[in-house]
Amino acid sequence: MYTLPELPFKTNELEPFFDEATIKIHHGKHHQAYVDNLNKALEQHSDLASLDIDDLLKNINKVPEDIKQVVINNAGGHYNHTFFWNILGKDGAKSPDNELQNALNDMFGSFDAFKAKFNEVALKRFGSGWAWLVVDADGKFEVLSTANQDSPLMQNKKPILGLDVWEHAYYLKYQNKRADYIEAFWNVINWDKVNRHFINR
Ligand code: MN
Repeated sequence: MYTLPELPFKTNELEPFFDEATIKIHHGKHHQAYVDNLNKALEQHSDLASLDIDDLLKNINKVPEDIKQVVINNAGGHYNHTFFWNILGKDGAKSPDNELQNALNDMFGSFDAFKAKFNEVALKRFGSGWAWLVVDADGKFEVLSTANQDSPLMQNKKPILGLDVWEHAYYLKYQNKRADYIEAFWNVINWDKVNRHFINR
């Protein structure tokens, strides 16, 4: 059985950038639904249900065809949201550490150029999905977007930073202004957590 993780921050902690009402619904209703639907889909598949969520997604091709898409959607939803909550918070570092900063400089030219690329990808995702900074199996960095709840793990890519751009993530506060929500995101990142993903890549 998969379970909803506790948030690593208080529900009002990310105000005024991410509002409390959205965080409560996003975590308690949307994320909970992915967990519930995943458990339901795997009711008759205890071998799969016993896997870590990471391993389930990395082995998505072993999931039977009749439940594969529902597992992609809900295991992806569970993993992506758990990842997302864990890189948010007002405590912790306000910027990347030197090692990550240097890697971003090498790849994108500067932090601002990286941020502009990430923002562009997040803004251009049509419909629902996610923006990511990932590292691939060869250690190469990439900014990319995934549709719906598709997880980078299914492409054997490991997330370093991620942003939910589903309307449910921002519509209460930002309505149609996704660009404003994306800009707000940069104020609520706990870079200690992102640095850790980079170190453990
Ligand atoms: Mn979401």
